[in-house]
Amino acid sequence: MSDCLFCRIVAAEIPADVVRETEHTIAFRDIAPHAPVHVLVVPREHHRDVAELAAHADLLQAVIAEAAAVAVQEGLTDGWRLLFNTGHDAGQTVFHVHAHVLGGEPLGALRG
Ligand code: 5GP
Ligand code: ZN
Repeated sequence: MSDCLFCRIVAAEIPADVVRETEHTIAFRDIAPHAPVHVLVVPREHHRDVAELAAHADLLQAVIAEAAAVAVQEGLTDGWRLLFNTGHDAGQTVFHVHAHVLGGEPLGALRG
């Protein structure tokens, strides 16, 4: 999907601050962080949102496992938040599924 921003990051056509990579996923820092640590974990394969990803159990598991690995790597020993915005009402702006990993300070109310 050449018109998809995160497909273009996966393809290294657009630069990103990559923190972890696996065969099936890539994790990179959010360009407009909402917390001291704000990393996005995406499957390399294009799926629009977590509802669609739910049909691909292995890939969903890989994304969540990578989110947990990011939290360890970033030293988020006091806790962290995992968040998938899904659709208009959640404010999803990039329609290539991504897990937000947020932490590094008390996070307060739900946000992404
Ligand atoms: P959403 O609102 O769809 O859940 O989250 C999309 C996220 O992608 C936002 O937090 C936004 O800051 C981030 N983002 C948008 N464009 C870019 C980009 O070009 N590079 C990076 N690293 N993050 C981006
Ligand atoms: Zn995509």
